[in-house]
Amino acid sequence: MTPETPQKKVFIRTHGCQMNVYDSGRMADVLARDYATTDTPDDADLILLNTCHIREKASEKVYTELGLLRQFKDRGAAEGRTVTIGVTGCVAQAEGEEIARRARTVDLVVGPQSYQRLPEIVRAASGRRAPVEADFAAEEKFAALRETPPRKRGEVAAFLTVQEGCDKFCTFCVVPYTRGAEYSRPAPDLIVEATRLAEAGVRELTLLGQNVNAWHGEGPDGSPWGLARLLFRLAEIPGILRLRYTTSHPRDMDDALIAAHRDLPQLMPYLHLPVQAGSDRILRAMNRKHGVSDYLHLVDRIRAARPDMALSGDFIVGFPGETEADFAETLRLVETVTYASAFTFKYSPRPGTPAASLEQVPEDVKNERLYRLQALIAAQQAAFNRSRLGMEMDVLFDRPGKRPGQIAGRSPWQQTVHVPATPDIIGSVRRVAIDTIGTNTLSGVLADARVFEEAV
Ligand code: SF4
Repeated sequence: MTPETPQKKVFIRTHGCQMNVYDSGRMADVLARDYATTDTPDDADLILLNTCHIREKASEKVYTELGLLRQFKDRGAAEGRTVTIGVTGCVAQAEGEEIARRARTVDLVVGPQSYQRLPEIVRAASGRRAPVEADFAAEEKFAALRETPPRKRGEVAAFLTVQEGCDKFCTFCVVPYTRGAEYSRPAPDLIVEATRLAEAGVRELTLLGQNVNAWHGEGPDGSPWGLARLLFRLAEIPGILRLRYTTSHPRDMDDALIAAHRDLPQLMPYLHLPVQAGSDRILRAMNRKHGVSDYLHLVDRIRAARPDMALSGDFIVGFPGETEADFAETLRLVETVTYASAFTFKYSPRPGTPAASLEQVPEDVKNERLYRLQALIAAQQAAFNRSRLGMEMDVLFDRPGKRPGQIAGRSPWQQTVHVPATPDIIGSVRRVAIDTIGTNTLSGVLADARVFEEAV
């Protein structure tokens, strides 16, 4: 243990989206002066539960988990150690006061826009009633994070939050209430953070935002920038070999961004473009602000710009009022677009959202529709993977494989690819000849190795 390694340890359990993963990493960064990270709550002095509010019973799950975490507090007390427990993330934002009232185990509750102040909040936590910090202060948060460089974590791929919050107010979604209004981080800050990540060994950056393609900012010359301009600038950073971004809203896919998919080689041909449903009537009820034909036209334009583009989507079945005919239109849309993968959910009423008070579709109907949709998506995903057989593709290697002598990486289309190789290729992009298609993974050999083999 070097002299500057903190004595105390923090354990962070992360639920939910990539932005929560990014936030957990930044929370560990701001606490790094006082706490080293640990992968287990057993030896932790501080335990943080980074929560997600998207799905049903999200808050009940938090109370269950807090109940289980109580043992670590009791064990610490028995060993003469104070173990502090905190709740962060979107449930903390939405239900902070209720958590502080109901869960005596909790020492602090901190929303997603306040975690830059964790060090002082933890120090002030007294074990009496938990302080609840739930301001919507994204600007202040990111300004404070400017002074906290990301720690070296040995990652080859990393997330970078560029935009937070949402102004769209889809009638089923809690995000505008838990993450607040749309906020775009300043371009100079993003360039600095991306450069630091590249210097720390990151080769692939995924830009994050609840509505990432709504990001807007100013260039050094004060000219207005959109996400496309930012992507071109980040691609200039030495070491950044690949770029991705998620999650996009169809209404914010502008011409420049579509052109970037044609003209920017670092930008990967894989786009997560949620549509949620295939019926105009349901899209209106969801307040998605676009129709089915708008979406299909957009997909055509994207594929014209980048013919090898693969799409993934988000779908909700059983939204209030959805008829069998509406659902049939969803299946038709999926058949028309064909997805490389998709996230599929049953509609679940979220507290405080407009759709929650509407008459619900029976659970068994939701289950049956979800089953049919998932079967269709699974068939499309398998067909997409099979279409990679015999292909040569560039793979970014980022970790050891499952078997000895095997290294794993990611294809341009987010598939896991395994090759027989030595660890020195980790962190590099190598051409791979795909010769085997597994259920969720591809396998092959390094093309130069094969060239080498054929030459011998
Ligand atoms: S655009 Fe996305 S994040 Fe925003 S309200 Fe709709 S579903 Fe939620």
